Amino acid sequence: MEEDPIRLAGRLPGLDFPGLFEADGLRRLDEAFLERLGREDADLRRRLLELREERNPPPALEYSEWLLAAAPHLEAFVAGLFGIEGELAALRARVLAHDPVMAFKKEFVLKRGRRYHGPFAESFGELDRRLDERLSEGGAPPDRESAVARFALGALADPRGRAEDIAWLTRWCALALREPGARARMAGWVSFRLPRPVDHGHLVARRAVEGDTAGRVQGDPAAFRHRDGFRLTDPRMAGREVQGEVHYCIYCHDHDGDFCSKGFPGKKGEPDLGLKVDPLGNILTGCPLEEKISEMHRLQRDGHTLAALAVVMVDNPMVPVTGHRICNDCMKACIYQKQDPVDIPQIETRVLTDVLDLPWGVEIYGLLTRWNPLRRHQYRMKPYNGRKVLIAGMGPAGFTMAHHLTMEGCAVVGIDGLKIEPLPEALLRGPVRRY
Ligand code: SF4
Repeated sequence: MEEDPIRLAGRLPGLDFPGLFEADGLRRLDEAFLERLGREDADLRRRLLELREERNPPPALEYSEWLLAAAPHLEAFVAGLFGIEGELAALRARVLAHDPVMAFKKEFVLKRGRRYHGPFAESFGELDRRLDERLSEGGAPPDRESAVARFALGALADPRGRAEDIAWLTRWCALALREPGARARMAGWVSFRLPRPVDHGHLVARRAVEGDTAGRVQGDPAAFRHRDGFRLTDPRMAGREVQGEVHYCIYCHDHDGDFCSKGFPGKKGEPDLGLKVDPLGNILTGCPLEEKISEMHRLQRDGHTLAALAVVMVDNPMVPVTGHRICNDCMKACIYQKQDPVDIPQIETRVLTDVLDLPWGVEIYGLLTRWNPLRRHQYRMKPYNGRKVLIAGMGPAGFTMAHHLTMEGCAVVGIDGLKIEPLPEALLRGPVRRY
């Protein structure tokens, strides 16, 4: 096997792949990052060093703003280290390619179509055919939603010259939102997906069991999912759906309202009154780890997916086993209490899997567990401290404890009652390019 397939040494002299697992290698990596950050933004570097020294937590908003500014620098540094600048730029372009659809939804569907109360001279079908004719001027578009969005934004950019286009497109949007037949044509369009009211008495749709004399009810049989191996997690959203959720978020950290992270207060600014309880009796605690959710969303909105993952991993280094695989306390405490909350676990999962899908993505994730300069504490694994620890039970508590003890410099061995299958030799001995 090639000794340094990532070619780290070419980019950071003296560092090789095994060095990423050793305290000394991580120290050198940290120094190299600090040196680069100092060249790019001396204030960010100075604040990073202060944050590491301060015993008390910094003001929440100030820390959030520092994270948002520093995380893209970390992203660029890691991309350069692994030589994946091109792949990361391509990922960013894919994420940002959905922006026109998001802008169309905001500026046209919500601001114009939903508020339109004027007359309709044409049917939806007539307007839709007119739209098709205009769209096909440059050939039939493979992605109609995106083509409509670009067409509409083009019209908005020239409000005087294209006032007529804006007017009939507004009527088309209004009918698309109101007519059942038209809504079917928009099935799957993120731009026409509107939040539904939340009814705590009917969170799960149910129907009467046919012919049941006891009057029992059941969920929709078409939505039944059978326990079948490990395939029980929610289906993943497509990239555009995820960006739809990201843009639905209103990034509440900037007014200390990110209740998804901090918990929903009974009364804002009065912590002594405790947390709000929803109609089902759930205490709205928000994320148990106080993950920086709003900040993750802001970075993902701007196409900084690797930076978003690094920010998530400040508080949640074990992110692959959380998200919709474990709980949704964050969603329950989202500021949207009377309509669908932001689907945070879907966003988090997408952020994680998009990074894992990059070349060396698994190694990048692993590195960020051992070294993450965005953390105030445990930002890099400490040298061996002479303590040996045996952890019995490798469930979530066991492997999380193993992580934190390793970061503190302990030598840790984990055992479990279930048989732990060995990984293929190639995955153990060298870096994983594609997992
Ligand atoms: S997920 Fe909800 S509570 Fe959290 S920042 Fe976004 S809108 Fe606000």
